[in-house]
Amino acid sequence: MSEQKKRLEEERRKNLNQIEVLKKDDPFADPDHASDNAAVDTDVREQVGHDTIEAEIKDMQKRVGEIDSALKKINKNQYGYCERCKKPILEARLKLIPEASFCIDCEKRLRK
Ligand SMILES: [Zn+2]
Repeated sequence: MSEQKKRLEEERRKNLNQIEVLKKDDPFADPDHASDNAAVDTDVREQVGHDTIEAEIKDMQKRVGEIDSALKKINKNQYGYCERCKKPILEARLKLIPEASFCIDCEKRLRK
C-alpha cells in the first residue's frame, strides 16, 4: 500500500512539474507577445499553441485532483475500492492507473 502512495506522490510531482513546463511553453506567456508585430499566420499558430497547452494543462490539473483524492483515500484506508459499487479494484488496474476511483466495470458504464 505504501508503494502505491509513493507512486501517487511521484505522479503528482511529475504532473505539477509538467504543468510548469507547459506554462513556460505557452506562447501567450511571452511578455513580448502582445507588443510583437508578428504576421497573422504567426498569431494563429500562437493561438493554436496556446489552446493546446491550455487543454493539456487542464487535463493534468484534473489528474492531480484525482491523485489528491486517491492519496486522501489511502490515509483513510479506503484506497483501492470502487466509489460506485464499493468492490475492490483489481490490483493490475491500480498498477496501471494508481489514481483510479472506479473498477473497470463501473468506469465503462460511466463512460457510455
Ligand atoms: Zn465498480
